Amino acid sequence: MSVKILDNLCNGCGACVDKCPFGAVEIVAGIAKFKDNCTGCGACGKACPNNAIEVTRKAKPKTSENKLDGYKGVWVFIEQRNGKIDTVALELLSEGRKLANDLEVELAGVLLGENVGHLAKECFAYGAEKVYLIDAPVFKDYRTDSYTTAICEIINIYKPEIVLFGATNNGRDFAARIGVRITTGLTADCTQLDIDPVTRLLRQTRPAFGGNVMATILCQNHRPQMATVRPKVMKMAEPDYTRTGEIIPCQTSVKEEDVTTKIMDIVKNLGNSVNLQDAEIVVSGGRGIGGPEHYHLIMELAEALGGVAGASRVAVDSGWVPHERQVGQTGKTVSPKLYVACGISGAIQHQAGMKTSEIIVAINTDPEAPIFSIATYGIVGDLHKVVPLLTQKVKELKATA
Ligand SMILES: Cc1cc2nc3c(=O)[nH]c(=O)nc-3n(C[C@H](O)[C@H](O)[C@H](O)COP(=O)(O)OP(=O)(O)OC[C@H]3O[C@@H](n4cnc5c(N)ncnc54)[C@H](O)[C@@H]3O)c2cc1C
Repeated sequence: MSVKILDNLCNGCGACVDKCPFGAVEIVAGIAKFKDNCTGCGACGKACPNNAIEVTRKAKPKTSENKLDGYKGVWVFIEQRNGKIDTVALELLSEGRKLANDLEVELAGVLLGENVGHLAKECFAYGAEKVYLIDAPVFKDYRTDSYTTAICEIINIYKPEIVLFGATNNGRDFAARIGVRITTGLTADCTQLDIDPVTRLLRQTRPAFGGNVMATILCQNHRPQMATVRPKVMKMAEPDYTRTGEIIPCQTSVKEEDVTTKIMDIVKNLGNSVNLQDAEIVVSGGRGIGGPEHYHLIMELAEALGGVAGASRVAVDSGWVPHERQVGQTGKTVSPKLYVACGISGAIQHQAGMKTSEIIVAINTDPEAPIFSIATYGIVGDLHKVVPLLTQKVKELKATA
């Protein structure tokens, strides 16, 4: 906004002086004058009884509109390791397909690596129409600097309006750097993505304030709109291997000698780490198990069902169960065929990590527990009695099968 005194109307009454929040107006020789610290906020104009202050709202600079022009299409970063696509990329292609349909634009995968061109057909099967392929020895293994530079370069050339990354270790590492380099925003750990039908903006929803509210975040003035999504949050579509698409080979300026990180060796973690995220059956225990000495009930049911045992945060924070088994907002996100919640109330932060499970069975003594509102089957009862009975029954059925 800008402000101007209309000398012929100003009678020096001083109403503007009193209302200015910055002390930036004074009366000189019976007429209001602006000091150098005037911000043009317009408060004086509203206060003037004689309409002697003209307040003009400046038109939005054309450049900010133009900055958004020319950005089109939805991209998904195709994370791959040793020539195998990470499932989160396939989940994001499935979700990206819906966004691209709503916007009536193309969906593309961005594939980096060495000798990875053959993975394009999987991207097409999951809905991509194009794959931007950056294939060179320098991209054999993920390194922050090489991948960041390469992706920034092709974003600047092809200008997608939306870019999605898996919230994996690598995705979290470089998506934020890309956002800073190309001056745009990034919404981390989204649990829902959709398109506003009026503005065509990407509505990026994620838990906020400790998970007590779901915030929908918009990136209005910068492009591309970028988000990360944790594995298993979005549903993977059925692949259609008859689909085909276009591969666009891309060159970048990245040279091995410019990459500061050198990979000397890659050591596989051979520990007994728990793979909750890929499990088809998860049985979790919460505060209701009553102590670490009862967690074996959960483990036994999980084992009988051929699944993996998880836990609520209370069970983890109480030191009953290791953190690697925690399901929820600050633990793992799971989406198994069967999720059995034993002695878990179903707080929103726990639900954030399991509510997309196909079948949810809840066992709880409290019929009012929130977990029952999302459960497919509910058993109101003491888990110490119910869980061993279930385990026994499953074992019997397996023995006779
Ligand atoms: C920022 C933030 C992040 C969080 N992240 C997570 C997260 O990742 N994962 C997570 O789980 N929580 C998380 N929480 C904590 C969450 O808010 C809840 O406190 C937690 O999920 C509760 O765990 P619970 O259901 O085991 O315990 P409670 O809420 O105490 O529920 C115990 C349930 O067990 C039932 N019960 C008791 N005895 C028995 C019995 N003998 N048989 C059957 N049922 C019984 C009770 O009726 C009750 O419903 C987070 C919280 C915050 C603020």
